Amino acid sequence: MSRKIAGFLVVLVVAVSIGLLLAQSLCGKIAFVVTASEDSSSVTVHFIDVGQGDSILIDTPNRDVLIDGGPEAEGPRVLNYLGSLSITRIHLMVATHPHKDHIGGLIDVLSSVTNVDEILINNQTYTNKTYTNFMNLVKSHSVTVAQRGQTFILTETANLTVFNPVQPLEFLSVNDANKNSVVVKLQVGNTSFLFTGDAEADAEQSMLEAGLDLQSGVLKVGHHGSRNATTQLFLDDVAPSHAIISAGEGNPYGHPHEETIQRLLAKGVTIYGTFHSGTIIASTDGTAIIFPDSPQPIPEFQTNMLLPIIMTATLLGLILYRRQLRA
Ligand SMILES: [Zn+2]
Repeated sequence: MSRKIAGFLVVLVVAVSIGLLLAQSLCGKIAFVVTASEDSSSVTVHFIDVGQGDSILIDTPNRDVLIDGGPEAEGPRVLNYLGSLSITRIHLMVATHPHKDHIGGLIDVLSSVTNVDEILINNQTYTNKTYTNFMNLVKSHSVTVAQRGQTFILTETANLTVFNPVQPLEFLSVNDANKNSVVVKLQVGNTSFLFTGDAEADAEQSMLEAGLDLQSGVLKVGHHGSRNATTQLFLDDVAPSHAIISAGEGNPYGHPHEETIQRLLAKGVTIYGTFHSGTIIASTDGTAIIFPDSPQPIPEFQTNMLLPIIMTATLLGLILYRRQLRA
């Protein structure tokens, strides 16, 4: 191989690497095409950006549902968000499990002027200061213990069904709090959403064995995209077109884990993340689900993977070039 060809190869490798980088950044900017407009009978689901935690508002023309409130420090943000939508009454509050990145922010909501009609809890015995404070506020409300099979009617065409836990709880250790997460499916006409809290493999298996109709257009990915959730069999059964990961940017757990992202991408699922796009809004009229703000999907090639690829390719090119100079 001549020096010219070796030189050309180096340039080619560098050019391809830069091309990949540009393609990746452009790919993330392709807007989701909005094909329908929101009407007054539509249901809107807000995956509120609360950093590392979950908080989801289901806004229907009739009854509104708040699933979790993020960590305690995010309470004011959740309250502001409700305020921005002029929501003064939560008909059903769902506390998926006692961990503080889920129930912390609910304390501010329960302490505010917001009316909360009914609170759904998994009834797990759990001791920490945040949960104790939360439970003290819960006492003055109507409390329902979540049980697989319960259904809550939201509108004529929308309802919420509890898929997890069963009572008495299947998982009794204090370390099993995630597994007893309240999992609910929202059905609006022919469209559906599955909200999994921090449910992991064991809870997913329990739901699969129960033969539940898990299929849902949108999956709120379990446990912030942890590798211990969203197992292949569960994902195959849910078969979502879109997945939402609620996680904080640069969180100490490394959520979402790359394995989860790859499992979702391999199924052709479009992934949105609160750490990537902030609050994510989905809307449905019962026939199709749209994302009116066109969030950026999580790209197939994460920047943190692309950089080592570029560096390795450039290094290989340079080694090849130097070898040719010596020949
Ligand atoms: Zn969590």
